[in-house]
Amino acid sequence: MQALTFFGTREKLSRAGYGAQTEKINHAAVKLAREVAGDAALVAGSVSRTQLVEREGSGALDKARHHIAEQIRMLKDAGVDFLILETFFHLAEMKLALQCAAESGLPAIATMSFRPLTTQCADGHSPAECAKGMAEHGAIAVGANCEQEPERMLPLLRQMREAVKVPIAAQPAAFRTTPECNSFTRMPQFPDEMETIQVSRKAFTAFGRIAKAEGIRYVGGCCGCNPAYIRALAQGLEHSK
Ligand SMILES: [Zn+2]
Repeated sequence: MQALTFFGTREKLSRAGYGAQTEKINHAAVKLAREVAGDAALVAGSVSRTQLVEREGSGALDKARHHIAEQIRMLKDAGVDFLILETFFHLAEMKLALQCAAESGLPAIATMSFRPLTTQCADGHSPAECAKGMAEHGAIAVGANCEQEPERMLPLLRQMREAVKVPIAAQPAAFRTTPECNSFTRMPQFPDEMETIQVSRKAFTAFGRIAKAEGIRYVGGCCGCNPAYIRALAQGLEHSK
């Protein structure tokens, strides 16, 4: 059960006018997830990039580390079982997030997002290099989330699969991309005509089947998915038995 703490650093919440409530918001999100999870599920805290690196360049990495470390401390205080570090564009920022996770003692799953290309992340590393870098920095599973639909994400997941021994994690988006445009947030339909590039739930059933067969062991859905997509994905996992 994932607590809705994505973009919950003080830096991001301040830009939305909620900086003073950073701790309250993170704690409330974990409490809600914990109530729903009960004894039936673990609770994960979601942590993402700060966007400082995109705005200010790599000189902002120290500031990013400060904000990510603070959010992870709050999530630990709130009682999460593990962390999901997701939607990082720069491997450098992901590595520092993994260092913060290691310092907290919480296990972390790490997934990068590839935009605008599926061949390299924003600071120029291939999917295989990203997988190795994340595994070397202590991630218990590594992979990709967001930006591509299952079909376009699969090849880069296979490259990661080849590069590391830790489990591969995948949370594709439910929007169609093209050979010319590999990320849905760069498609001309983004953001006001997303309905026209929605992929079907069936694509997620197929993905569940393929993922299980190929040893992609941690699966979910990102932007564009709703509970019906997760059910479809679960059916794919079932049918592959
Ligand atoms: Zn997403």
